[in-house]
Amino acid sequence: MTSEPRPLRIFVAGLMHETNGFSPVPTSMGSFEADLAYVPPSDIMRDLALAFAGYGDAIRSIRAAGDEAIKGPCFWAQPSGSISSIVYSHLKSSVIEALRETGPIDAVLLVLHGAMIAEGIEDCEADLLHEARAVVGPEVPIGALLDLHGNVSPAMLESGAIVVGVKEYPHVDYPDRARELHGMLKELARGARMSMSLRTIPRLSLQGTVEQPMRGLVDCMIAAEGKDGIRSISLMHGFPWADWSYAGASVLVVSENADPAVIDALTDDLAEAFVTIADNAAVERMSVGDAIERGFATPGQGPAVIADSSDNPGGGGACDSTFVLRELIDRGCENVALGMIWDPQAAQIAANSGVGSKLSLRLGGKVGPMSGDPVDLECSGGA
Ligand SMILES: [Zn+2]
Repeated sequence: MTSEPRPLRIFVAGLMHETNGFSPVPTSMGSFEADLAYVPPSDIMRDLALAFAGYGDAIRSIRAAGDEAIKGPCFWAQPSGSISSIVYSHLKSSVIEALRETGPIDAVLLVLHGAMIAEGIEDCEADLLHEARAVVGPEVPIGALLDLHGNVSPAMLESGAIVVGVKEYPHVDYPDRARELHGMLKELARGARMSMSLRTIPRLSLQGTVEQPMRGLVDCMIAAEGKDGIRSISLMHGFPWADWSYAGASVLVVSENADPAVIDALTDDLAEAFVTIADNAAVERMSVGDAIERGFATPGQGPAVIADSSDNPGGGGACDSTFVLRELIDRGCENVALGMIWDPQAAQIAANSGVGSKLSLRLGGKVGPMSGDPVDLECSGGA
């Protein structure tokens, strides 16, 4: 008669930030407290953490499989500039002390991003993984779940962690990846042996996975899993604005008794395919003036959309640059909508002035040198 294996105790914590090293907006403790700072046993932001992609998915996957999820802290802040060393130290201590206080466990699952930079620490993920390893010792499996826009270093893997990134952009596959990582941690806790391989790809490129040809490449990756000892493949696109030596794309492979030649061939193929896609998708860069000129060159063809993709709050940009606005005004362009400029002070003044009021407003260009100069405008107020 065989008995059911006992449920595993798995510690889960999250520490995520996509750090834009070029952003003049520092990331403070207030940034995390405004977005997500859940520290059990407090219930503050508990529901938010459990609804958060990655952390909540890991907890649900572990529980659904009949194992015990020990909830550790979960921190996330919107992309912005470097984190101060004091704040990072506090966040890390919070996770590591919770892990230490948990007592004996069977596995650790950390939800990270892969592009977190603090003052004096370029590779926060590796730092955290090594600290976690020091607490649990060499035998307890550690898994890290990364965002597809994570930058991966050899130091992360030297912690002995099994590292998996989401495959899709938009990142709709967090539940699948959390389930997959939990499954592998479970096998490792029961004696399986797996290895990690990393192939860095010298490209900075952001690609969606819904459209071809990237869709086909993701499907090929999925088809290669479960064969020849290949357990999991992650094609990381990286985060170009995290300014350090490992910024860029990479292939991560989790394997079990696989022939190294098979892994090499696989990673070669994926790296080559990604480079081809990235090179063919390279966009033509234009000056702001040329872009506006071309946008107005074909009237009657529908709206022309000009994207200033680096001044992007979703990627940590300050979003208050005025270069496009200045050019549009100087050229006397009409029938144009510009969105958006982040200027809370101007927005408050406009809201206070009342709907339909006229006011002179100094707009944008405030956060740093890359924001350009403020633009003085005669505006209509509104709520
Ligand atoms: Zn991402």
